[in-house]
Amino acid sequence: MSSFWLDSIAQHRVKRESLEQDIEVDVAIVGGGYSGLWTAYYLKLFQPDLRIAIIESDHVGFGASGRNGGWCSGFLPMTLSELDRAHGRDAAINMYRESFRTLDEIESVLAKEDIDCDYHRGGTIRGATNVVQQIRVVDEVAELRSYGFSESDLQLLTTDDCKSRINLQGLLASNYTPHCAVIHPAKLAFGLAQAVENRGVKIYENSRVTKITSRRVELQDITVRCQIVVRATEGFTSQLKQHRRTLAPLYSYMVVTEPLSDSQRAEIGWHNRETYHDARNMIIYVQITKDGRIAFGGRGAPYHFGSSVKPAFDNHNVIHQRIVESMHQVFPITKSLEITRRWGGPLGVPRNWQPSVNFDRATGLASLGGYVGDGVAATNLAARTLAHLVISDSHPLTKLPWVNKSSRKWELEPMRYLGINGLLKLSTGIDKHEGTTNTPDKIRTKILDMFL
Ligand SMILES: Cc1cc2nc3c(=O)[nH]c(=O)nc-3n(C[C@H](O)[C@H](O)[C@H](O)COP(=O)(O)OP(=O)(O)OC[C@H]3O[C@@H](n4cnc5c(N)ncnc54)[C@H](O)[C@@H]3O)c2cc1C
Repeated sequence: MSSFWLDSIAQHRVKRESLEQDIEVDVAIVGGGYSGLWTAYYLKLFQPDLRIAIIESDHVGFGASGRNGGWCSGFLPMTLSELDRAHGRDAAINMYRESFRTLDEIESVLAKEDIDCDYHRGGTIRGATNVVQQIRVVDEVAELRSYGFSESDLQLLTTDDCKSRINLQGLLASNYTPHCAVIHPAKLAFGLAQAVENRGVKIYENSRVTKITSRRVELQDITVRCQIVVRATEGFTSQLKQHRRTLAPLYSYMVVTEPLSDSQRAEIGWHNRETYHDARNMIIYVQITKDGRIAFGGRGAPYHFGSSVKPAFDNHNVIHQRIVESMHQVFPITKSLEITRRWGGPLGVPRNWQPSVNFDRATGLASLGGYVGDGVAATNLAARTLAHLVISDSHPLTKLPWVNKSSRKWELEPMRYLGINGLLKLSTGIDKHEGTTNTPDKIRTKILDMFL
């Protein structure tokens, strides 16, 4: 199994048959992660007679959906002002409002389908550990306010407010949003799979798709004929021949500790299980699990030439060591805790760093993804949007700015390799500069902004 989460419920994994012969369905979905599962869920909900097959190369939840940090966040990988610049102010506001509402939607499905995934909506705290981060934390609140969002969406915390939630030392500022829940990622994937099967969706595992074309999905020696094909392959998309440059696979890595002792928990608090990150450029993300472990993740691993994705990349000694060091720095309490598991996995990153939902009725080709590591909640919104596009009911979601706005392709190699790794190095360099000098690194930040 490829993560702490998958290990922890390995005994509940349902082993499904693989696709052994040609079939014909209405909708073929390639990929058994949240994107594929939520798409099947909503299509069946809206049109119960649809014949739907999910075709998964490994097993349900094998990808990022079974490995992530468990942040089910209403915040998107693109900011309001980035959306505003690309699509206009109203579109940006609509997109964020729908994204925030997505947590209510997920909660209601979990209740309706009886999915227990340790869901708890404790919100997110973002801390600042130096003066530059402090400015970012304050600016983020101001930006949301300038788009008409209120204190109840994002607010600054006083030092005491923050400490009463998580007893963190040395923060210069922090903000808090209620629009985030923690989940056990693999439990959500397995629960969704069960829910769609209960509604009549067929899931095939250990069935690798080699080619997707209009109304046709090809596996080795097997063909699936269908009206609509949904590509939901995210970080693995580059492995499909026609999609080598559609999404770049960037790796994110995590570690998890043994559970905190009662006295450590009393010291740190954290009883509302808020997710935590800080305002550095190279993202870190933290949750405390239901059984009191600290699960700490970070990005910044080098991109692999040719967008290659290999099981060997799921562990990275240097990056894991860096993540452990960051964890000890942010949560000194973890220095005495054993790290019980390390893992990682690929995210899907489009050239414009913005996810999209795409459907072309003429060819029947659909896709969703490019969440840049923020897909736990966004997969639900994307899948609902796609399902409305497919049934063609002119639902307001089909007017969201990410609909049919797929990014241009990534550059050819070696430009892609040099460009992405250059940006990753730049981000890490800026963080180092900000941390050691307490001043902004204006030139390098400007260069970074030009490319992100
Ligand atoms: C370490 C890590 C931490 C993360 N933390 C967070 C977080 O805390 N919050 C958050 O919002 N997001 C997080 N993310 C991102 C989030 O997990 C993803 O955005 C989300 O799970 C994407 O779901 P998906 O279904 O689109 O992709 P995936 O879950 O990757 O599913 C794609 C599926 O397609 C299958 N597949 C691929 N190619 C083929 C093929 N040719 N034939 C058949 N099947 C195929 C794969 O096996 C896989 O199961 C994290 C990701 C990682 C890796």
